[in-house]
Amino acid sequence: MAYVIPQPPQSFLPVAGTDDQFPVRRVYCVGRNYAEHAIEMGHDPDREPPFFFMKCPDNLMVGGGDWPYPVASNDVHWELEMVLGLKSGGTNIPAAQALDHVFGYAVGLDMTRRDLQGEAKKMGRPWDVGKAFDLAAPCTAIHPAEKTGHPTAGRIWLERNGEVRQDGDLNQMIWKIPEMIEYLSGLFTLAPGDLIFTGTPAGVGAVQRGDVLKGGVEGVDELTIKVV
Ligand code: MN
Repeated sequence: MAYVIPQPPQSFLPVAGTDDQFPVRRVYCVGRNYAEHAIEMGHDPDREPPFFFMKCPDNLMVGGGDWPYPVASNDVHWELEMVLGLKSGGTNIPAAQALDHVFGYAVGLDMTRRDLQGEAKKMGRPWDVGKAFDLAAPCTAIHPAEKTGHPTAGRIWLERNGEVRQDGDLNQMIWKIPEMIEYLSGLFTLAPGDLIFTGTPAGVGAVQRGDVLKGGVEGVDELTIKVV
């Protein structure tokens, strides 16, 4: 058996502190999961059911560094998020058992072509062009939960050129991680290698070429990109 075209490379996150790699299968993202961010995006922060969209595994950019300003947009926003990776999966996972499936945690940027996303929202079209573009998901190495525990509180923040722009706390999540996994596993069969971007606190904004974005999640990691 031979592949008739070059085999696409497997996406992965390095496992922090080791030479091991975490292979990535799917990248789920939860929308509007912090009340203040829901408000800034013009929505009611009440506990409506969570909703999800996806990025592609090959949208990941591992670690920080130079990040090319994307094509086809003039309004590219940062969204700093905690990311989790699953070591096992299933369907209809009860919240009480959800954390048993988590391998570890990382820090990611859900970079967003807000102008294209806005057009899609207005037209009732999918968000892919706004969310799943090349390099749309810079992300740190993944840190095993044996080291980090399962963070439920702690600062989640982003600085643009040294100025604090996002400054939230994981305890402000509307849908907590076990509930998120329970809900998502009712929609999709989750599996080892799935990542979930868990939402961003208030303070999103537009980047310009030359900007340095530095952000982190307390107890997990920090991520820095320079927009070029
Ligand atoms: Mn997001």
